[in-house]
Amino acid sequence: MALGVAWGMMSSSLGLNSFTTDWIGPFGTIFINMLKLIAVPLVLVSLVTGVSSLSDISRLSRIGTKTIGTYLATTVLAVVLGLVLVNIFEPGKAFSPEKREEFKQQYAGTASAKSSDAAALEQQGPLQPLVDIVPENLFLAMTSNGSMLQVIFFALLFGIALILIPPDKAQPVNDFFEGVNMAILKIVDIIMMTAPYGVFALLAGLVVDFAGNDPGAALELLMVLGYYCIVVAIGLALMILVVYPALVVTVGRTKYAHFIRGIFPAQMLAFSTSSSAATLPATMECSEKNLGINKEITSFVLPLGATINMDGTSLYQSVAAVFIAQAYGIELDLTAQLGIVMTATLASIGSAAVPGAGIVMLVIVLQQAGIPIEGIALILAPDRLLDMLRTTVNVTGDATVAMMVARTEGQLHPPTEITVK
Ligand code: ASP
Repeated sequence: MALGVAWGMMSSSLGLNSFTTDWIGPFGTIFINMLKLIAVPLVLVSLVTGVSSLSDISRLSRIGTKTIGTYLATTVLAVVLGLVLVNIFEPGKAFSPEKREEFKQQYAGTASAKSSDAAALEQQGPLQPLVDIVPENLFLAMTSNGSMLQVIFFALLFGIALILIPPDKAQPVNDFFEGVNMAILKIVDIIMMTAPYGVFALLAGLVVDFAGNDPGAALELLMVLGYYCIVVAIGLALMILVVYPALVVTVGRTKYAHFIRGIFPAQMLAFSTSSSAATLPATMECSEKNLGINKEITSFVLPLGATINMDGTSLYQSVAAVFIAQAYGIELDLTAQLGIVMTATLASIGSAAVPGAGIVMLVIVLQQAGIPIEGIALILAPDRLLDMLRTTVNVTGDATVAMMVARTEGQLHPPTEITVK
């Protein structure tokens, strides 16, 4: 990662941008493509084996309720934390009026593109999200990483059916999925061997895109929005340094240093790829191998978490929404802020686990709260960086909940060794 950033900086000062874009950047894309390639099969197969290994329906519903309940609770907590911080620091009020005008005009085009994406979402009826979970064709659902919830729906249904049919009939199917699961995990191993090179290329390309031919430009832009970024970053840091440790230590009964050391490789990958879905294989591997969480728990809790549990995204959305309101001089009363708690929670659940999904769903939060969506223009510039940070929190949150569920289910084993790649 460090070498990638250094290379990116160097090439924008030495005018090597097109070399980096043409000859290094593509390897980053190939790396991300490989991770995305494995996402649908991994979610499908690991959920089927995960659910069917739970052996009875009451166990499944107990673990399922516990998992989803904890996911919701941590998300709401993150939103509230974000709201408290943004109300204390009031970063939006730090903008000078001229600056605000400048940003608005500069980014108006991009903001309207983002908002037309979201306008399509807005047109739908209230139950449309529920309808969208149920695919009309499994193979169609599997053709898009964005339809992960539909794949999850089918996998859960199939896993439950396997529990309900006679064991002698289910066994060969379970064995088959077990074998496929092993093969997929092996592919993940192979992909991960290329991770250092992929991450180097990814970050080199990113820095060049961001900085253009003038490394100072990126820096200056970040400085202007620095205060807002710092507030988001403080919130995200509090999640990683206070909220998760409290949960890991009290419910997970595990030393936090051990937890962080174990999950660190997945955090780094989340930071580099900005995608919880692409990081899922690493999150699963770290949770099983380094943290000693039983496969039965990881294969159910983590694929679900990568899709619906986004604490970092929800925190970011609440800070961003109020920040924009502040910048436009809109006062949000308690009811409006409670509305943000609800919409940011739902919007983070609905955000796809891919780069930039959070900012598209932010438009929904803004519209519900009556905040001008053009305000997104203000926060587009540093979004890539914040995406990297919030995805790291999203992934850490998933692993935290996996550890809590595993502990309460007696499925946490002393890990044999720490393999930090
Ligand atoms: N990139 C985030 C993730 O994949 C989603 C977002 O907040 O944009 O977890």
